[in-house]
Amino acid sequence: MNFHVLTLFPEMIEAAFTTSITGRAMASGLLNLNAVNIRDYAEEKRKGRIDDYSYGGGAGMIMQAEPVYRAFCAAAAGLENPRVLFMTPQGRTFDQHFAAELAQEKDLVFLCGHYEGIDQRVLDEIVTDEVSIGDYVLTGGELPALVMMDAIARLVPGVLSNEDSAQTESFMGDGLLEYPQYSRPEEWHGKQVPPILLSGDHGKVDRWRREQSLLRTAQRRPDLCGGAVLDKKDRKFIREAGLEEYYDI
Ligand code: SAM
Repeated sequence: MNFHVLTLFPEMIEAAFTTSITGRAMASGLLNLNAVNIRDYAEEKRKGRIDDYSYGGGAGMIMQAEPVYRAFCAAAAGLENPRVLFMTPQGRTFDQHFAAELAQEKDLVFLCGHYEGIDQRVLDEIVTDEVSIGDYVLTGGELPALVMMDAIARLVPGVLSNEDSAQTESFMGDGLLEYPQYSRPEEWHGKQVPPILLSGDHGKVDRWRREQSLLRTAQRRPDLCGGAVLDKKDRKFIREAGLEEYYDI
């Protein structure tokens, strides 16, 4: 998968993405990063400046259309109709389903805004998707792009080893939250690991984990319970635990 990022701060993208799991996947060729500095496409006479005042007045500067467009053309040269994702608090909220959809693409272009935003005309011309990472306003689109890139990258086959497989994680499968996890030692600060996890009985461990998942999702994110695909044992547990109001049984 190839990530192309149009940004005023390529060093920020490079520093974060070349670290840890995504860095390892880049070294093995599963992921590629092309961080394009929009400033390099400023008009010559403006000497690296790509922002200007907002028509109609108001506080803050606007990134101009032409440098963004030129940076896009350079990054997208040779690509066939890539998805172009504009990071904006006004966009569709990013989630795991959207990450899974984007992980199917070969190339993704991320456009990071700064200051008060970007001239609408270039957005209308090049952007395919407007995406937000949540209802709050950040100073720039670099962190949102990195959040999305990380979530997408770990769904690309081979990026995670079997050990850290994404399949059982929160929001995957039928969309429930993951069960609680424990590691050594068996007792810590007087707290014991649930005995079932030490039993060596994989069937019982799987059942316990599934039940914890059902319980945790009802307690923390009841809005996700509707997506659960329930079997007979799940339904029995839901009745016994008094969770009928959350699940469709
Ligand atoms: N004036 C814009 C508005 O009110 O919608 C906000 C501009 S913000 C200060 C600067 C840039 O940060 C945006 O162009 C966008 O790229 C990025 N940004 C800020 N918050 C974001 C969020 N929640 N999700 C995605 N991108 C965000």
